[in-house]
Amino acid sequence: MKPLAAVALSLALVVFGACAHAEGIQIAPAGSTPTLIGGVDNFSGQVAVDIKAAGDSGQHAGVGIVTFMPGARTAWHTHPVGQLLIVTDGRGWVQEDGQPRREIKAGDVVWIEAGVKHWHGAAKDSRMNHLAIAYMQGGRNADWKELVTDEQYNAR
Ligand code: MN
Repeated sequence: MKPLAAVALSLALVVFGACAHAEGIQIAPAGSTPTLIGGVDNFSGQVAVDIKAAGDSGQHAGVGIVTFMPGARTAWHTHPVGQLLIVTDGRGWVQEDGQPRREIKAGDVVWIEAGVKHWHGAAKDSRMNHLAIAYMQGGRNADWKELVTDEQYNAR
């Protein structure tokens, strides 16, 4: 298990495990959910991930608000069930392996099919924030591959 996923799983217990009311409706108060730095195995550049749901038992998806500084991006990866991205600010790129990269900007909603190798991140000259919802299967919601090289990132 990659460190980010392991940390996220343990943090879910911190976020929700300590709630006085373990059943019914659970509220994680504003500011109580952690921000993680995107690790060098899975991200290039400066990336922060606000974990909103870790996708452990009882949750069907991992949910995070991801902030990519200019030039920052994920590694190549796939999702076992698919991923929904909702761009909340800025402008960036998403690319499916073998296809041209595509611009995405605030308000865009992106669906990535299960098993499609891809990356997403900021444009070279703009920050990009997106809400990322990655559905769980077999205890995981992403399969990470190699980093996106500068040559790949800069290619149109
Ligand atoms: Mn993805």
